[in-house]
Amino acid sequence: MVKCSFCGRKKSDTLMLVAGIDGHICELCIEQAYEIVQEEIKQHIKSEDSARLDYSRFTPMQLKSHLDDYVIGQEMAKKFLSVAVYNHFKRLAIKESDEVILEKSNIVLVGRTGTGKTLLAKTIARFLEVPFAIVDATVFTEAGYVGEDVESMLSRLLQAADFDVASAERGIVYIDEIDKVARKSDNPSITRDVSGEGVQQALLKMLEGTEVNVPPHGGRKHPEQKMITVDTSNILFICGGAFDGIEKIIAKRLNTQVIGFTKETGSKVDRDNLLNYINHQDLKNFGLIPELLGRLPVLTHLQSLDKATLKRILTEPKNALIKQYTKLFEMEDIKLHFTDGALDYIAQLAIDYKLGARGLRSICEALLTDAMFDLPSNKSIGEFKVDKRFVEEKLRESNFISPAAA
Ligand code: ADP
Repeated sequence: MVKCSFCGRKKSDTLMLVAGIDGHICELCIEQAYEIVQEEIKQHIKSEDSARLDYSRFTPMQLKSHLDDYVIGQEMAKKFLSVAVYNHFKRLAIKESDEVILEKSNIVLVGRTGTGKTLLAKTIARFLEVPFAIVDATVFTEAGYVGEDVESMLSRLLQAADFDVASAERGIVYIDEIDKVARKSDNPSITRDVSGEGVQQALLKMLEGTEVNVPPHGGRKHPEQKMITVDTSNILFICGGAFDGIEKIIAKRLNTQVIGFTKETGSKVDRDNLLNYINHQDLKNFGLIPELLGRLPVLTHLQSLDKATLKRILTEPKNALIKQYTKLFEMEDIKLHFTDGALDYIAQLAIDYKLGARGLRSICEALLTDAMFDLPSNKSIGEFKVDKRFVEEKLRESNFISPAAA
């Protein structure tokens, strides 16, 4: 009589029996065997992952030098981040039985938009080869209101990890625009602040480390949806924000200190770079609740980009814009050359038009689109030179700069 060689069920009791050389297997045993194999694979990946994330594999200096390849300037932020990430991995290496428990080193980055906050977080994730998700704090609202639950940020991380939970649990989440969930006034209001303080409250547990039920495809949780449980204890959270107006808060704090201390110690406050003095107190005065700040112990800031830095951004990073365009032209056997004057002019334009580093790309597109359209049909050119005059003319032609501004 034909029966399952594993559980012994008769053929008539099964949906199907798959025949092998010397036996049969029923659908239930196949399912069970499949689960065993999956579990085994998971364990295998887990041990591979922990080998890869071993802190002794890199030093803060190596991480910083990797950041140097992609991010120009921002020395202080790079140093702080390198140490924080290194310590984060040391923390992962510590066994539960150890007496000293290292606390999480989640990070908050303060700096104007387009100064490299996201780029830093992204570059770190690439270096560490861990899943990485970017989320915007402004889409979150307190549970029960219109908007997204904060848990949905973990859905993005899961997606980035191809739904491999173990791998997502060691990932990095970059939460952009954290300043937008600041409490609007210093008084905790009587009416609920749904999108501000409520979101900060909802973030607390997650940042600290807890098991969260995550809707795999994001959005709102609803009862019929199958949830995936994600433990956030080992996820590194990096929060970033422009914190518009924080300089005033810093100045106010420093002024009160001048009366008390600074005068005596004789140190002079650099009024042009007030961000250098930023501390957690300022973020609290801006409207982040102390409990949240307690879970973001590492605070660092990014400088605004000056002309010299923007010029370097055009040419120096490993995937610098000019390098990318040079490659595109090279594929047509054309040598692309930018004069120093042209680079200078482009950088200045990005500053004058308050476009920041993000604007460099649109300027270059406006400059080179015609050439990229024409040249593939006319390869005999050999060389294409971009000087200041060319930049001026092209940008005026493409209405990038108005005739009056030129
Ligand atoms: P933020 O998150 O601070 O708003 P991003 O990191 O998204 O800014 O920066 C936008 C783009 O500008 C980046 O993709 C990168 O091309 C460029 N950029 C900004 N700052 C730097 C920098 N310090 N070094 C190199 N490129 C930069």
